[in-house]
Amino acid sequence: MKATKPLMSLLLALLLILPMGTAALAAEAENSTPIYTVEELLAIANAPDGSYTLEADLDLFGIDWSPFAFSGTLDGQGHTLYNLQVSRVGEDVRQTRDGNLKVYDTVFAGLFSVLEEATIRDLTLLGAALEVDGETHCFAGLLAGYMDHSSVLNCTVQGTARLNNYAVQSGVAGLVGYGCGEIKDCRAAVTLIFEDRNFDSRCEQFMGGVLSCGIANIENCEVEIDGYDSCHGYAHSGGLVGMYYYCGMNFRGLSVTGNSVKGQIHFFEDNRDRRAYCAPYLGEPLSMPGNYNNNTEEFTRDETREYGAVLLPERCETPEIQDTVTPSGCESWGYTDHACAKCEHRWRDSYTPPRHTPGDWETAREATEDAEGLQQLHCRDCGELLETQEIPRLAAQASPAPSDTGSPGAAPQSIESSETLAIRFRGHAQASYSSAATPPLYWESANPEIASVNETGLIFGLQTGETQIYYRSADGLCCGMCEVTVYYSLWQWFLILFCFGWLWYI
Ligand SMILES: [Zn+2]
Ligand SMILES: [Zn+2]
Repeated sequence: MKATKPLMSLLLALLLILPMGTAALAAEAENSTPIYTVEELLAIANAPDGSYTLEADLDLFGIDWSPFAFSGTLDGQGHTLYNLQVSRVGEDVRQTRDGNLKVYDTVFAGLFSVLEEATIRDLTLLGAALEVDGETHCFAGLLAGYMDHSSVLNCTVQGTARLNNYAVQSGVAGLVGYGCGEIKDCRAAVTLIFEDRNFDSRCEQFMGGVLSCGIANIENCEVEIDGYDSCHGYAHSGGLVGMYYYCGMNFRGLSVTGNSVKGQIHFFEDNRDRRAYCAPYLGEPLSMPGNYNNNTEEFTRDETREYGAVLLPERCETPEIQDTVTPSGCESWGYTDHACAKCEHRWRDSYTPPRHTPGDWETAREATEDAEGLQQLHCRDCGELLETQEIPRLAAQASPAPSDTGSPGAAPQSIESSETLAIRFRGHAQASYSSAATPPLYWESANPEIASVNETGLIFGLQTGETQIYYRSADGLCCGMCEVTVYYSLWQWFLILFCFGWLWYI
């Protein structure tokens, strides 16, 4: 018996664990928190290990973005975060290493500062603009500054990232600044600027369209890069990765395949010990990917030995910028193009989401007495059905109700007869009606609280004030109105003054 007990326990444990495994998977999908608003997006920072799905395109213009650490799952579901502006680094500090495995305490900037065992998928950033000062060692990427064993899948970034370096260890990238993980099926159309403002010590500088420094499986990514790298130290720049190296991380990144790179990196390396690493894919491959093929490039390595001027997209001292606004269409994003009339500097920002233009409501089905009708709103440009609304049933015509003479307060369309009556408070008077009106008549008071009326046209004064009494003949051919004023009689006034005194009167 004793021997079977551990076995039974094991079986019981397995029985418990197996169904829990599948249940946990299902729960993960169900427990994913939907994000519809910027506020909900910002709230990720409070529960950074959660599972999230983006349910809308979100405009981040004017949000003072604080990059935060994330260790959960974010499924963008094809949605776009547009006009992100990042002007500061996140609070999180992690250690990074250079090519000699020297360790630096480093800060990070991006949509996220740090990704740790995180997954980001199917997310687009349009018109992202990042510019941070690296007061201490710093990495920046439009998506994240740092990643540790994380996955970035089918994501797109478009925008500009600029890092002004005051320290040593320093890098800027399209997607992720530093780290290790999987980056697959992504697109980066980016302008990257590195300005070295540290002239005292030689920086370890990194720039990459996908990753500026680190090791990752990078597969089927498309990069359009325009890089500007002014370095007074050691430059490592690549269309995909600036320096491809394991950097002490426990990650085997051995696949760099199926990627395309278009564009150029303009750079100088102001350094007596000049190395000037700059290449279409991997600027300096200290680790060599085992699977390193099927990559294509149209890349220009543009080195200058002039170190006096910072390399920037804008070449004019007094630029003449002209703006062209392209409005959004039914399926297409709108944006503003900026172009200098004197040089080739161009950039695009201020995105607006695709939207339809509503036309006029059109009746698709007329309402009848038996059934509701239907009206539809289509897009004026593409005809897509945007909204439908029910049209209420028509009122039955057979037996006209008193309200047919006009709703309370509204006069009938044609008055055959009218009279004026003054009725005492709690008194009554008979309304007269046209001799052309054949009884039975329908009577209605515009304000039943002042005066009510019965089926014979007898009016009761209930409260002081003025109202109208309407009547209509059953055949609907004749109608009339009676103006009624309800007043207190002299003795009633006397009684009120006697009982309540002058105060009531006032
Ligand atoms: Zn210019
Ligand atoms: Zn449309």
